Amino acid sequence: MYANGNQPIIVLKEGTERTKDKEAQFNNIAAAKAVADAVRSTLGPKGMDKMLVNTIGDVVITNDGVTILKEIEVQHPAAKMVVEVAKTQDNECGDGTTTAVVLAGELLKQSEELIDANIHPTVIANGFRMAAAKAVEVLNGIAVDASSDEILKKVAVTSLTGKSIGDEHDRLAEIVVKASKSVAEDGKVDTDNIRLEKKVGGVIGDTYLVEGVIIDKEAVHSRMPKKVENAKIALFAAALEVKKTEFDAQIQITDPASMSAFLAEEENSMKAMVEKIKEIGANVVFSSKGIDELVQHYLAKAGILGYRRLKQSDLEAIGKATGATVVGSVMEITKKDLGTAGLVEEKQVGEDGMAFITKCKNPKAITIFVRGGTEHVLEEVERALNDAIRTVGVTLENKKVVAGAGAPEIELQLRLSEYASSVGGREQLAIEKFAKAMEIIPWTLAENAGIDSIDSIIKLKNAHEKKKDGKYYGLDLSTGEAVDMFKLNVIEPLKVKVQAISSAEEVASMILRIDDVIAARRSAPPAGPPGGGMPGGMPGMM
Ligand code: ADP
Ligand code: MG
Repeated sequence: MYANGNQPIIVLKEGTERTKDKEAQFNNIAAAKAVADAVRSTLGPKGMDKMLVNTIGDVVITNDGVTILKEIEVQHPAAKMVVEVAKTQDNECGDGTTTAVVLAGELLKQSEELIDANIHPTVIANGFRMAAAKAVEVLNGIAVDASSDEILKKVAVTSLTGKSIGDEHDRLAEIVVKASKSVAEDGKVDTDNIRLEKKVGGVIGDTYLVEGVIIDKEAVHSRMPKKVENAKIALFAAALEVKKTEFDAQIQITDPASMSAFLAEEENSMKAMVEKIKEIGANVVFSSKGIDELVQHYLAKAGILGYRRLKQSDLEAIGKATGATVVGSVMEITKKDLGTAGLVEEKQVGEDGMAFITKCKNPKAITIFVRGGTEHVLEEVERALNDAIRTVGVTLENKKVVAGAGAPEIELQLRLSEYASSVGGREQLAIEKFAKAMEIIPWTLAENAGIDSIDSIIKLKNAHEKKKDGKYYGLDLSTGEAVDMFKLNVIEPLKVKVQAISSAEEVASMILRIDDVIAARRSAPPAGPPGGGMPGGMPGMM
């Protein structure tokens, strides 16, 4: 930039990189497509897993789009925007993350030709916005009411399909549906109340639902009962100890008599705590703080089971499962604060004892006890269960589902193409590209299953145009045929599709509108492990 034709005016700091117009756009598109390509091969039931290794050697094996994108370190700003889409999708629905990212990549890919043909990005973005709005309308039109257990289970199975969980889809799906329904309240499902407790050992099929809470702790005293039926449970956010003097003050004791008086007083007040617990009828005690050895001894003598140093969240979960109130001071507990459980039992799981608080009457917190051979298996099962819990939760709340396996995407393709011609103008071209982009989902499902993608799309389009209930036809990946997915039981919540398409459109339009990238020179990376990057971070890409 020159003022008065001589001195250059330097606006940008030295080292700043600037790319503009088409170069900036194609750059951003390439980065976004690279993110989509990174997760494409995991889409669908026949998708492959990825093994991610970070700089300190930790390994994650997963098929889950958002997990992959969270683990790899993406640097390009446009790529980061696409990663955000996966995170949003995950937060909103817990599923459909790969779909959202793949769609975003494809929308951008489709727009390249338009940019080349000098169609202004604003026009493309407008067309995309119109198409997305129409898509939501179409999806609502083809959605089906759902609330039966049968449909919920199918939704869970669909969400679990393709995750590395062995042959346990049915069993886990049943557990997920039962768990979700039992924490549902007034049509809302707080999935936080479904706890997953993992323990290495056994096989995935040993996973089961506990109508209550599991605490990974052993009783404080070996002579306490291992099993308490009809448990009356007290929860303390207080130590069962004598209060230590605040400032480490020294207590001057000069003669032996006052020494023993002092100790007796301490002992008495601890005895009084146990008396209080006995008096109100509690037979199991949990504390988030410590339990003095002497108190442990008295509790054991009274046949009361005790656990100490629980996490606050564990204490609250027991409260939700048993109806107990957490009390801040031992001497202030009353009968009303107690919770109940049919059984509290210490079970030996592998090497450790764990407390099972079960047979709770109307538990508002329950636990899936996840078993599996290794830590990696447990983690993938946990991710799969979390996705399924969220999708079933979303279905319980919204009560609408659509067919899966590419069925809605093909329907959208056809209907959006019709819509495009009714719009006219330059936006029409963008809407046509948007329609075309929808194909990427069935295309990729076929590709990942080793089925001819072109054939598959043709079969699907034929079915959608000609068959009765054609709109529900998706790809049967074992035969390559178009099949009614409500019959093949591949069913997804409407919300997952709506969210995936809306957020893919949003990020694609946002990236398209950028025509100027001004990047400050990156400061030298802080001293860290060799290979740069964050300590423990995955190797960077792009
Ligand atoms: P996402 O992260 O998007 O949920 P997934 O790997 O879970 O990615 O794949 C989801 C896609 O797989 C959806 O389009 C869904 O309809 C499809 N799908 C799931 N189960 C089946 C199946 N049994 N046959 C065909 N497609 C399936
Ligand atoms: Mg999924």
